[in-house]
Amino acid sequence: MTRDDATVMDILQGGRCFYCDAPVGAKATFDHVIPQCYGGTDDPGNIVLAHRRCNQRKADRLPDSDTIDRLIAMRRGSRIAIWPPLLALRHAAPGQAEIAVARAVAALRDLAPSPVASSAPTAAPQPSAPQRGR
Ligand SMILES: [Zn+2]
Repeated sequence: MTRDDATVMDILQGGRCFYCDAPVGAKATFDHVIPQCYGGTDDPGNIVLAHRRCNQRKADRLPDSDTIDRLIAMRRGSRIAIWPPLLALRHAAPGQAEIAVARAVAALRDLAPSPVASSAPTAAPQPSAPQRGR
């Protein structure tokens, strides 16, 4: 999430709370549409602006289909893509919501570059040859 992402969200939401549609302005909080306890990340595609009280009322529940459809419609054509696990949840079979989200979150983790591999030095420093005494 960057400041630009938040600005784009504010414009797309018309300065209104995603949940109650009342003006929210500078008091907006960032709500994870898929809650963090389900693996929801800070990816802008998983964040909406909401009143603190609306954010708390939603709590740690997964969004329903109507909510996801509303988000998709709101973000269509914008530079904020829908977070893929939200689409997986939208298309999950009845009773399979939690497992669909878990699988999609795991798939994203597998795609992410491994920080260990990408930061490893290309060549290990060679030990210097011991100095030979006379
Ligand atoms: Zn609200």
